[in-house]
Amino acid sequence: MKKADIFEFFRRLAEANPAPETELEYGNVYQLLVAVTLSAQATDVGVNKATRKLFALVKTPQDMLDLGEEGLKEHIKTIGLFNSKARNVMAMAEILVEKYGGEVPADRDLLTELPGVGRKTANVVMNCAFGAETFAVDTHIFRVGNRTGLAKGKTPLAVEKGLEKKVPQPFRVGAHHWLILHGRYVCKARTPECWHCGVVDLCAFKGKVLEKGAKPPQAKKAKAPTSRKARKESKA
Ligand code: SF4
Repeated sequence: MKKADIFEFFRRLAEANPAPETELEYGNVYQLLVAVTLSAQATDVGVNKATRKLFALVKTPQDMLDLGEEGLKEHIKTIGLFNSKARNVMAMAEILVEKYGGEVPADRDLLTELPGVGRKTANVVMNCAFGAETFAVDTHIFRVGNRTGLAKGKTPLAVEKGLEKKVPQPFRVGAHHWLILHGRYVCKARTPECWHCGVVDLCAFKGKVLEKGAKPPQAKKAKAPTSRKARKESKA
C-alpha cells in the first residue's frame, strides 16, 4: 500500500472511531495486565464476565496474593486454560510485589519477563496503559495487515515490524485498536464484509465480498501462522 493510501486508511478508521479503546474492562494498569493475560485464547466478553467480580476484590498484586491461587481459580474457572493462567497470575503478583513495589513496570522488556506475559500482552499493556506506539498483533491484526497489503508477513512479529515501519503519525498510538476493531467487526475471518468497509478502495485484497450474502471468491487468503513458534507468538 502506498504511503498516501496508508495515511488515508487510518484517517478514515480514526474518523469513524476517534477514541478507540480496548474492549477488556479494567480499572487500573495492574487489572489491565491481568485481564490481557487471561484473554489469551479467550474472548474479551468471557474475560470481562469473570473479571467483573474479581476486580471488585483485587485491585493490586498484594490483593491477588491475599486472595490466593484457589480463590483466583474460583473466579476464572470459566476461562480456558484457567489452571495455568492462575499459576502465572499468582507468580506475576509475587514478582510485582517483591521487585517492583506493587507497580507494573512501563517497559516492554521487563513486562515480558513476567510469567505468562508474551510480547503481544506486553505490547497491549504498553499501548493501552502507557500510550506507547506498540502494535500488538493478534489474529485480527495479522489478517487485516496481510489482506489489505498494509503490512504483510508470515508471522505476527513480521507484521508487527511492518506496522512499526509504516503506520504514520498521528495514528501510531490508536492503530492497534483500529485494526483489531476493523478485523473483529468488518474484515472478518471467514467473510470480510467489504460491502460496508470504509477502506474498500484502498485495500489490495483480491477476495473482496462486495455484496451482502455473496460467497467469498476463491481468492488466496492470508494464511494463519503455521509454525509452532508463529502460532505461539500470535496467541501470547
Ligand atoms: S475491503 Fe474487505 S478485505 Fe479489504 S479491509 Fe475491507 S473488509 Fe477487509
